[in-house]
This record gives sequence, C-alpha cells and structure tokens, in this order.
Amino acid sequence: MAELAYKEPEPKVIAGAKGDWELVIGLEVHAQVSSKSKLFSGASTAFGAEPNTNVSLVDAAMPGMLPVINGFCVEQAVRTGLGLKAEINLFSRFDRKNYFYPDLPQGYQISQLYHPIVGEGEILVDMAPGIARKVRVERIHLEQDAGKSVHDLDPDLSYVDLNRTGVALMEIVSKPDIRGPEEAAEYVRKLRQILRYLGTCDGNMQEGSLRADVNVSVRPAGTSELGTRCEIKNMNSMRFIQQAIEFEARRQIAILEDGGSVEQETRLYDPNKGETRSMRSKEEAHDYRYFPDPDLLPLEFEQSFVDGIAASLPELPDAKKARFVLEYGMTEYDAGVLTAEVASADYFEAVARGRDGKQAANWVINELFGRLNKEGHGIADSPISPVQLGGLIDLIAKGDISGKIAKDVFEILWTEGGDPAKIVEDRGMKQVTDMGAIEAAVDEVIAANPDKVAQAQAKPSLAGWFVGQVMKATGGKANPKAVNDIVRGKLGIG
Ligand code: ADP
Ligand code: MG
Repeated sequence: MAELAYKEPEPKVIAGAKGDWELVIGLEVHAQVSSKSKLFSGASTAFGAEPNTNVSLVDAAMPGMLPVINGFCVEQAVRTGLGLKAEINLFSRFDRKNYFYPDLPQGYQISQLYHPIVGEGEILVDMAPGIARKVRVERIHLEQDAGKSVHDLDPDLSYVDLNRTGVALMEIVSKPDIRGPEEAAEYVRKLRQILRYLGTCDGNMQEGSLRADVNVSVRPAGTSELGTRCEIKNMNSMRFIQQAIEFEARRQIAILEDGGSVEQETRLYDPNKGETRSMRSKEEAHDYRYFPDPDLLPLEFEQSFVDGIAASLPELPDAKKARFVLEYGMTEYDAGVLTAEVASADYFEAVARGRDGKQAANWVINELFGRLNKEGHGIADSPISPVQLGGLIDLIAKGDISGKIAKDVFEILWTEGGDPAKIVEDRGMKQVTDMGAIEAAVDEVIAANPDKVAQAQAKPSLAGWFVGQVMKATGGKANPKAVNDIVRGKLGIG
C-alpha cells in the first residue's frame, strides 16, 4: 500500500504577556453507530421520529427487562478500530456508570470503563500537503446514549424524549497529541471521513451523530509537562471547536500569567458570546461507582472473527489519496479534494478510467465540483454523470472541440442533459480542422487589416490579435493551434 511522506507541523504557540504558550488538546468523540436498532434493544434509531415512539421496555427501564447485545453494533466498533489501525481486544466487558438523570431511566449508563473493545490506534491528521500530525488513539468503547430533556416547550414543565436513550455510541478517545485549534478541527474532520468510509457512523454533526468533548491545557512553549486541563463538552461543529479552544487557551494563559492556577473543570462553549463558562468543577464530580454489569456477559472474540472484518475493510482515505497521487500523477492537494468522500472518489475514477488522469481531475474538481458547490449540491445529485463527463473529455482529446467549446457543452449537459457527442454534432459545435477553411478565414482578416499586418510584422506578439479575430469569425470553432500556425506563416513571423 502506497504512503505519502509527511512532516509533523510546528505546534501552535500563543504569545502571552509574559512569554509563549503551547496548546495541548485531547478529544473524546462520541460517534453514533450506524445501526437500525439500539445497543441493547430492538427499538428503532431513526432520527426525527415523534418523541417517545422509538422506546422499548428495555430503554424505558421497566423492572425485569434485560439488555441483549446488538451484534451488528459490536462489529461496527471492531470495524472502526481496524480502520484506525487499532488493537482489537478479544476480551471486553460492560460496566455500569451510575448516575441519576431524568433522561436515563435506568439510573446508570452501560459503558466500558475497564475493558474497552478497542485499544490503541492512530489517526493521521492532514494539515497541508506534506504536513500531518499523527494523533494516537487511546481507546474506543461502546456505550449507550442518553435521552433528551426538553425545556423549551412549556414555561413550567420539562419534557423527556427517550427516543435516543440506548442508541449505540462509540466513544473514541485520543491521547493529548493535538497541538492547536486547527489541528483539533482537522482531527474531527479526518475521523469523520474515516468513519464515513467505513460506514460505521454517518458523521452527521447537525443531527448529533458526531459530538466531541474537547480537553484543553496550556504549558510554557518548549516544556513537556502537561498542564491542568479543562473539558469543553458536547461540541458539534468544527468551527465552534476551533473558537472554543482559542478562547479557552487564552483564558487559561491569563490565569497562569496572573499567578493563579487552572482548576480542572467541565465547561460549556457559548457560540453567541464566543466564550466558555464553567458547568461543574472536578470537586463536584460524581462518583460513578462503576462495576461490571451483571446482566451482560463479557464479549469474547475469536481472532478469526476480527480477521473476517479486517478482510472486508474498504480502501481508506490515506491509501486512496496516496494511490491517486501515484496512479494519476495529480497533486496531493487535488487527491485530497477527490478523496474527501468515497462518492467523489468513485465518480472521479469512473471518469478517469482509460483517460488522462490529470485532465479528468481537472474537469471533476474545477468544473463539476465548482458548479456543484455553487449550487449547493452534493456529488450524489450531480446532473452530469461520469459517462457524460468522460464523453466530453473524449471529444477534447480527439480534437473535436476546444477546451472553450467544451465549457459550453458542459453547460448544456448541466441544464439539459444529453449525449455530448450528439450535442456537438447536432449543434454544429465541432471544431473546424479543415485547413482550407481556416486559411480562407485568415486571408480575409489579413486583407481587411493591412495596418495591423505591418504592426505585427514589427512586433510578432501582436499576431495574437489575428488569432483572436479568426476565432471570432469562426464562432470559436477553429482549432486555435492551427489558426496560430497559419497566421504566423502568412505574416512571415515564424
Ligand atoms: P476523563 O476520563 O476524566 O475524561 P482521561 O484521562 O480519560 O480523563 O482523558 C480524557 C481526555 O483528555 C483524553 O482525550 C486525553 O487525551 C485528554 N487529556 C488528558 N490530559 C490532558 C491535558 N493535560 N491536556 C489536554 N488534554 C488532556
Ligand atoms: Mg472526559
């Protein structure tokens, strides 16, 4: 498998009043498993259902109900672990994390504290072509999501919606290896990309399928000891993650430079005010009294089970990007754009097959993606298929149309559809390669402009004016190279 060479970026340094500070960041990402039913019950996970319609007796914690593990969710966690090059633990176990919360009727959350399903892995966080940070993953464990308390429907009452209660989450915990706000956002972007490639989480941040708790500390630049961290809870936007870290780092620096010390606490980010504020301090932290859940057997895997999942993994983003660079000779930047989503990469490869890879990349990125972005479409609803775009590129390659006419054909394909070859034929857009016809057009322009002829002969760069006139006279259909050759020949400027 091909790999691209990279260098680690410099850590982000913030200048305080008394010196430079370095940021240290670790993320706990909650990724909802793409599963139709919940982690321990058969209730649906469909987003946007009427409140309390996707709730089984298990989710409602009716007395005597017992959890039954969802094998599909277990496979997705293993698949995710393998995709992050992580160790898969053949033995893992569920623990109860005890706390009272209105949207958690059990009175405890089933999670995995002592024996998580996945151990150490890594994520390569791309910062720029040739620059990436390798961030180690500490663990991934499976756990239940809680429900939702609704406080804004009634001035006097709060409601509880248990639809989300018991939905399977993978908590993906990074080591404190991230060194700046941009790196943290890129980490989430890359993790989301890998999850979407694997198909284990849809990564829909608006719907809450992917949320991050962001741990931030600062230390004097150049030192290696970790400072005291604060944890900013439940962030579901890359932009807010960056803003919150930036604010939080400056807040901690101000405290430390003032001779104070940072208190370890949980904070919330308020995007309207652009600041973080305290939610609870570590002193008030709950004692969760974790203990192994007696209702569930430990998970024990045969190595062959893990190997079977490993054999089914798709080509992942890093490998695909490296292959695109090597196979099609494109830049790492372009390869990054094309491999952002599996669907775009597949689209590109369908266009590039049997054609010039760089030219295909150019058309897909500049024309197609450019247009899709402008109109707010995704690749899935592109009005132009890979077959149509490929056909258009073939017409350029054959010399039937110029690059300029090709853009007109692209426009027709976008708005009206159709077969590019037939469009060019039917609408007389074919490039004039008949030398006699081009020559006649050149003669005409030369005869009509004797003064320009003299000028161009004195200054050969002015020959371009004649080329322009001939192109205009032929409706842009003359082969520009042929026109240029003939013009120069007739003017005697070689
Ligand atoms: P907890 O379970 O109490 O949240 P962990 O030790 O599991 O604590 O750490 C949670 C997250 O905090 C991890 O992602 C880790 O990388 C990060 N982290 C730990 N120490 C620091 C630190 N000093 N600065 C920034 N992040 C940290
Ligand atoms: Mg935590």
